[in-house]
Amino acid sequence: AIAPKLGNETIKAELGRAAWKLLHTTFARFPDKPSEDEKVALKNYIHLFQRLYPCGECASHFATILEKYPPQVSSRSAAAAWGCHVHNQVNKRLQKPLFDCSNIGDFYDCGCAETEEE
Ligand SMILES: Cc1cc2nc3c(=O)[nH]c(=O)nc-3n(C[C@H](O)[C@H](O)[C@H](O)COP(=O)(O)OP(=O)(O)OC[C@H]3O[C@@H](n4cnc5c(N)ncnc54)[C@H](O)[C@@H]3O)c2cc1C
Repeated sequence: AIAPKLGNETIKAELGRAAWKLLHTTFARFPDKPSEDEKVALKNYIHLFQRLYPCGECASHFATILEKYPPQVSSRSAAAAWGCHVHNQVNKRLQKPLFDCSNIGDFYDCGCAETEEE
């Protein structure tokens, strides 16, 4: 982790909600059949996201989760399911209810239909 400890609980929670939204939406819009270069890009992005996450203690905990559950970047659905799983690992640690990952595709609409029509 690069950032120091983030003591303000309100800011920590706001940051977390925004960060999860960004991550899950990134996975929902990742290609179904990514190129090797796109897979490397997503893997690097997740590792840099962890290192630079502005809440230092969150980043340290997340590093342990990434070690145990390495990013899955083979397809959109693999990335989305992985994102849901690691978010649930954080939920578990914080004693929050677990999210039903079978609904992940509907919850973070990738907007793909619109793009395909265009
Ligand atoms: C990488 C990372 C590490 C963090 N580590 C810590 C930490 O160590 N300590 C700490 O205090 N806070 C940490 N946070 C913040 C914490 O996870 C929450 O974001 C924060 O507590 C606000 O929680 P919330 O209940 O509003 O919902 P959040 O957990 O922020 O979730 C936002 C919304 O996402 C949906 N959601 C919930 N679970 C899932 C899931 N599994 N998959 C998809 N969508 C889901 C729900 O609709 C929920 O309302 C971390 C955040 C991130 C991004």
